[in-house]
Amino acid sequence: QEKSAITKSEIDRGAVASVAGGDTIAAVSSGSGGAVAVIRLSGPQAGRALEALAGRRPEPRRAHLARLRHPASGEVLDQGLALWFPGPRSATGEDMAELQIHGGRAVVAAVLGAVLAVPGLRPAEAGEFTRRAFLNGRMDLTQAEGLADLIGAETQAQRRLAFAHAFGHLGQRVEDWRRRLIRAMALVEAGIDFADEDDVPAGARALARPEVEALSLELETALADRRGAMVREGALIAIAGLPNAGKSSLINALAQRDVAIVSDEPGTTRDLLEVALDLGGHKVTLVDTAGLREATSKVEAEGIRRARARVAQADLILWVHDLSAGPVLKVCPSIEAQAPLWLVANKIDRAAGEPSYAASWAAQVRAVSATSGEGLAELTRAIGSFISARAEGEHPALIRARHRASAAEADAHLALALTQWETLDDELLAEELRLAARALGRMTGAIGVEDLLDVVFREFCIGK
Ligand code: GDP
Repeated sequence: QEKSAITKSEIDRGAVASVAGGDTIAAVSSGSGGAVAVIRLSGPQAGRALEALAGRRPEPRRAHLARLRHPASGEVLDQGLALWFPGPRSATGEDMAELQIHGGRAVVAAVLGAVLAVPGLRPAEAGEFTRRAFLNGRMDLTQAEGLADLIGAETQAQRRLAFAHAFGHLGQRVEDWRRRLIRAMALVEAGIDFADEDDVPAGARALARPEVEALSLELETALADRRGAMVREGALIAIAGLPNAGKSSLINALAQRDVAIVSDEPGTTRDLLEVALDLGGHKVTLVDTAGLREATSKVEAEGIRRARARVAQADLILWVHDLSAGPVLKVCPSIEAQAPLWLVANKIDRAAGEPSYAASWAAQVRAVSATSGEGLAELTRAIGSFISARAEGEHPALIRARHRASAAEADAHLALALTQWETLDDELLAEELRLAARALGRMTGAIGVEDLLDVVFREFCIGK
């Protein structure tokens, strides 16, 4: 079922596209090295190019097995599937064609060369297909970003988030905020338009306030929710503990490769060491912190300062304790983080008898041996469920730094409007609400994003 309603903004954007996308682009859209390669074409000459190579324009959206010839020499270059997607019901909204050919480098070079020999065709720039899809109203800007994330997803959790972002219309939540804001703005503006009529204005302005308050609260809740960022960027897990507790050994064991320096010399991990891992389907960044203790040198003091700052951003802190050095008496008092702190009781292979901890720790203790591997599978599983539990449910709309910046800007205008609600002129109040709506509109690309497009689409590679 096609979405049939074409909004005015889509028509406006279509007008932009017909200027921006006047030429026809082509590129290899598949990865390299496969048995099959896909060449995509988009633009007004796509159908003619298909005829030139495949002999005819196939029925729309049906695969057609064809000999592909060079349009000038007539040489048969390959045999493959030709597909024809007339606009606007295509991925980019323009006429599109697709050739599925053999993946060999020489075949791909010959067929792409033949496509580009058709007058009016040129190689696509990075992200240009997706950019045209956006300009033609086939997707909003957050969906385009979701698509980039989907293509780049490394873990299953990232794939799920990116899919929801690209196809689950998270951007609609932002558009919904914006629509409500525009309604509130209209109420305030009613006060301007009907300033002479006594009964309308005061009531209209008062009506808008609860909606603006609700919106401000929702924006702040969304800003406070870091789940999306956690899945996209990966959960940050700080590995803290006294020198020699086994932090580097634990990271090595979890990473299953030698990434950190392990040594008997206290204070060897002078600097921060970060390792990104796929831990049971979740992207995780482990940060080895310089032993958080009194520094004896300047270099160490700087390391400790940076470790503290990183620990403060962590989603989870693992406090590693060397059980062979005795029971856990206290955890470093200077950790100022909101994140949950788990005690990892290390070196159980060396500990005599039952390890002992302060009673308050009982629930959070994970006993392991970084060198023998005991308890590591359980620790990995526990971290996995911790992240799943945090990331589950509906994902927030604010996934990227760009989204958060727009939301924060919108909220700042709302906050200003709310604190001065009684004193601001109708015009000024409406202006604050308009600026907030504009910030939200930039998030989905509904308005004023020309300057952003290069930044957003630069992330794509050619053919996307
Ligand atoms: P860090 O300073 O906290 O990073 O500690 P390291 O990872 O450098 O470890 C300090 C020492 O403890 C090294 O000699 C490690 O081999 C040793 N070590 C680490 N984990 C274990 C463990 O589970 N069992 C035993 N027996 N030794 C360990």
